[in-house]
Amino acid sequence: MQLYNTLSAEERAQLIDEAGKQRLTLSFYAYAKIEDPKKFRDDLFIEWNKLDALGRTYVAKEGINAQMSVPAENFEAFRETLEAYDFMKGIRLNVAVEHDDHSFLKLTVKVRDKIVADGLNDETFDVTNIGVHLKAKEFNQILEDPNTIVVDFRNHYESEIGHFKGAITPDVETFRESLPIINEQLKDFKEDKNLVMYCTGGIRCEKASAYFKHQGFKNVFQLEGGIINYAKQLKEEGLESKFIGKNFVFDHRLGERITDDIVSQCHQCGKPCDNHTNCLNDGCHLLFIQCDECQAAMENCCSTECLEITHLPLAEQVKLRRGKQVGNKVFRKGKSENLKFKHSGELSDKPLAVAEKTKDIRQKIKVKKVLLGKAEHYYVKAQVGLFVIENQELNVGDKILISGPTTGNQELVLEKMLVNGTENSVAKVGDKITFEVPFRVRLSDKLFKIIG
Ligand SMILES: [Zn+2]
Ligand SMILES: [Zn+2]
Repeated sequence: MQLYNTLSAEERAQLIDEAGKQRLTLSFYAYAKIEDPKKFRDDLFIEWNKLDALGRTYVAKEGINAQMSVPAENFEAFRETLEAYDFMKGIRLNVAVEHDDHSFLKLTVKVRDKIVADGLNDETFDVTNIGVHLKAKEFNQILEDPNTIVVDFRNHYESEIGHFKGAITPDVETFRESLPIINEQLKDFKEDKNLVMYCTGGIRCEKASAYFKHQGFKNVFQLEGGIINYAKQLKEEGLESKFIGKNFVFDHRLGERITDDIVSQCHQCGKPCDNHTNCLNDGCHLLFIQCDECQAAMENCCSTECLEITHLPLAEQVKLRRGKQVGNKVFRKGKSENLKFKHSGELSDKPLAVAEKTKDIRQKIKVKKVLLGKAEHYYVKAQVGLFVIENQELNVGDKILISGPTTGNQELVLEKMLVNGTENSVAKVGDKITFEVPFRVRLSDKLFKIIG
């Protein structure tokens, strides 16, 4: 019985591409009483593995919290694996608006103490005494009420790229921090105001609403299913969006566009931008907003210091990291004095720019293709891309496809290439190749060979 992954992420990506099937990105959670989380975990893994479901799931005695990628054709079968449990009968599955077949490349189901690391002591209040759930339409209506106070229960780097108009966006790094801050800030409004809250998928508000009712707030409401579900209802019901910008999500896309408004700035040059990235320096990994131009100029780094480090030999880099608290900035979650245009706390509702029309990544090219490798660098001035071959071989004359979330799907015929620095007609596994590409290639764009 297989209880763990047997494929690497690369092998999985290749299988997904070869299968050419549409996948759905979805999330769900449920609070419950689970007697034996370990057995629950194993049972789910076995069922989901059969359905080619991928993703990251936490199970605990208090319930389940999952972010998944499921083949569209197995969606109903997947739902049945959940409905087999009484506490998940009729469970709402939050299906993402944008889909990316590579949103998850492994199936992990982990047993944890809690399904959300919220740091709250649950003994002090009744977590099942929650606020009133609001659907998108009702949520829009209550926002119109002058008696309403709306609070964003996400972190500063999440609200920075998108939030509800007029929302209080606490300058916090964790959910736990925001609770006493909001409690203090709103202490005079416990009796008469509507305390309306929202978060990404609704799970944080389940706890927060119970906390604030316990603190004496009389009228507590929460956005059911969070921004993810709100976005879905906007589309289905043709509602006006009172959310502006992007919804930060925790898969590799780092954001789902809700409206075309860009409300944040590139942290390095100040240009309107809402694309998060992680600093390429392994000793840093700072999460920050970076525009395409700064990404090219800074080679995906947050500072010139990090840029210089990434140019050192690997052994040197490791030496530099030794003794230092690795990932120091990761835990500061996107704050650094190097970032001149970082905003948190009070945020403006004024859009700075309109996003370019996003390419529909669901529009799959119906061709047979095989994954060869990925992009490592793009030399902007020379218009040359550097790729690493990880699978099969590439020949001059091959028809190739370069594909990625920003790049889209770009086809071309390979006329000439350098293999490890010298011109050659064949490249094999492990080779680094460069060739001219008439459009900008993004780091980690996938390189495919088109067959037939
Ligand atoms: Zn910039
Ligand atoms: Zn950095």
